[in-house]
Amino acid sequence: MQVNEVENYDVIIVGGGVAGLNTALHLDSRLRVLLLCKRESTLCNSSLAQGGMVSVYDEANDSCALHIEDTMIAGRGENNREAVTVLSRESHLAADELIALGVDFDRDEQGNYHLTLEGGHSRHRILHHKDSTGREIVDKMLAAVRQRENVELLDNALVCDIKQIAGGYSLNVLQGGEHRTLSARFCVLATGGLGRLYQYTTNSAIATGDGIAMAYQMGARIRNLSYIQFHPTAFHNDKRECFLISEAVRGSGAYLLNCHGKRFMDRYDERLELAPRDVVSQAIMKEQEATGSKDFYLDISHKDSDYLRGRFPMIYTNLLERGFDLTKEPIPIYPCQHYLMGGIDVDLYSRTTLDGLYAVGECSHTGVHGRNRLASNSLLEGIVFGRRAALDINERAGQSGEELRPYPFKPDVYTADIPKGTRTEIRSIMQRSHFVLPNRQLAEEGFIRINDIRFLLEHGQFRQNADYVEARSLATCAYLILREIM
Ligand SMILES: Cc1cc2nc3c(=O)[nH]c(=O)nc-3n(C[C@H](O)[C@H](O)[C@H](O)COP(=O)(O)OP(=O)(O)OC[C@H]3O[C@@H](n4cnc5c(N)ncnc54)[C@H](O)[C@@H]3O)c2cc1C
Repeated sequence: MQVNEVENYDVIIVGGGVAGLNTALHLDSRLRVLLLCKRESTLCNSSLAQGGMVSVYDEANDSCALHIEDTMIAGRGENNREAVTVLSRESHLAADELIALGVDFDRDEQGNYHLTLEGGHSRHRILHHKDSTGREIVDKMLAAVRQRENVELLDNALVCDIKQIAGGYSLNVLQGGEHRTLSARFCVLATGGLGRLYQYTTNSAIATGDGIAMAYQMGARIRNLSYIQFHPTAFHNDKRECFLISEAVRGSGAYLLNCHGKRFMDRYDERLELAPRDVVSQAIMKEQEATGSKDFYLDISHKDSDYLRGRFPMIYTNLLERGFDLTKEPIPIYPCQHYLMGGIDVDLYSRTTLDGLYAVGECSHTGVHGRNRLASNSLLEGIVFGRRAALDINERAGQSGEELRPYPFKPDVYTADIPKGTRTEIRSIMQRSHFVLPNRQLAEEGFIRINDIRFLLEHGQFRQNADYVEARSLATCAYLILREIM
């Protein structure tokens, strides 16, 4: 679809993962809404989510108090308790709304929703659709958004820049090789994480921190960008985008083995394989130091093979394609970048520090995750706080606003591409200096180089294409992360 004649909207949402989609679904139908995705709408981290979504659904055996406690323990107490309470209390509603959209969560033999267990949870409370929960949720949400007459959905529309204008925001959008200026009273950033800042990540290609970098450039407050989660059990090979082996596999009884084929978690944490992700990833790095080997395995071959094929069909098939049968043998794993806990600082209604600018989902910092996210709280966060952003906008949209005068973005006149290898260099600095156990000295050296790269990208005369915009975002995020830890 091409951009139509209308250049002004009430709300522009940048990002079509669960957070952006749920915002769109809750906006008043009288508001003109534009939702932008920089690539095809299904390419996002939300679609990759495997394990599931937390919901305090089984109130006979679970409670918000327990979920809040587990979330705070995983986050090492650095969470915003108020935000965690909102997350937990609204989890049942979030699940009900998804079910109403047609999301097909798995059920047990009695027909009750099957709630699974994951690391750091004291109760079975994860709703899931086999092992491809994210895709199921995104598909159903997208279908619902497409029914909304007030929402235009634009794929392959890259936001290159955002400027605050009187009464709203102007966005420079690149679509089909052309730049357009689109403005709105309210702008919702739902641009996801920044995994592509690392050599190895589970994140999809869109995760380059664009919204965070643009919010920072506009002066919004960014918090805890160095709080990055490294998932302990990504399939170990040399591919940039690592295939994740869900937490739910450990939740179902898998063991972690070192290079000698021996379990080792008992030397690091009494919760063994079910310790939170940061603890397990750090244990792997310490065990590597002790054994001198990077070889680690996840082993669930002691469980019934029919159960495993039925419970983890997507993981099973993907591993088979990579030459491993999880029902028969240990799978090579290693930690890699997975999730960002920090981001654009927001309040309980997803309002950033700039009037009319909202941030939802992984690009935001609500404070729910503290230092380390509890498994399966992330889809929930995007859904709960996406709805809250919409409710706030609905309330404010009734007030009369100023007429929007679009920002005069500079035309894209340059033809030179950014220097080859720029993104590779940024990734390699981050992988070396800020992996599971950060290295302060390398971070200081890296910061100096990142600063140079950032200066070059900000002030050089480059064509404004996706490569440029994403490299600039990556350099800005790297700068913010390294500055925070020095
Ligand atoms: C492999 C994997 C497994 C996971 N498993 C789980 C799980 O089981 N449970 C759980 O709770 N969480 C899980 N997570 C985390 C969770 O999926 C994400 O944190 C969450 O879905 C993020 O949603 P989001 O809407 O914020 O961003 P995303 O879903 O990543 O969407 C970002 C959107 O922003 C758009 N965008 C970005 N930049 C621009 C730009 N410049 N212009 C226009 N559009 C832009 C993209 O096109 C995309 O549409 C997993 C993550 C991964 C990677």
